[in-house]
Amino acid sequence: MSASIFTKIINREIPSEILYEDDRVIAIRDISPQAPLHLLVIPKAEQYANVAELAAGDPELLAAMVATAQRLAEEHADGEFRLIFNTGAGAGQTVFHVHAHVLAGGLQEGTLVGN
Ligand code: AMP
Repeated sequence: MSASIFTKIINREIPSEILYEDDRVIAIRDISPQAPLHLLVIPKAEQYANVAELAAGDPELLAAMVATAQRLAEEHADGEFRLIFNTGAGAGQTVFHVHAHVLAGGLQEGTLVGN
């Protein structure tokens, strides 16, 4: 299988605005923001296609993603945030390398990430 777009970003093969990185996760600004602050928190491990697979396979990594989302929402907004994991094409998922959408900063009620 070819590398996902997020693996290419992690490997610096394509550019993105990286706001945070450690040995397990990376956080970038979404290229098509749906809120004043719209980040993606992405595990470097690419074998989990969605959050259900990640929760079953590595719950600590999922917890690390949530903690990263919280920290970034505090740094870049008021600390309150919406965390979205589109799971399956029918739910709007387009990249099958698990990622959390972090939306913050003056959210409208009902704002959802979809395509
Ligand atoms: P999903 O539809 O839940 O799979 O989310 C994929 C997200 O990746 C979308 O919100 C896209 O805007 C975002 N995206 C796609 N390519 C890039 C990129 N090169 N840099 C940043 N975000 C991207």
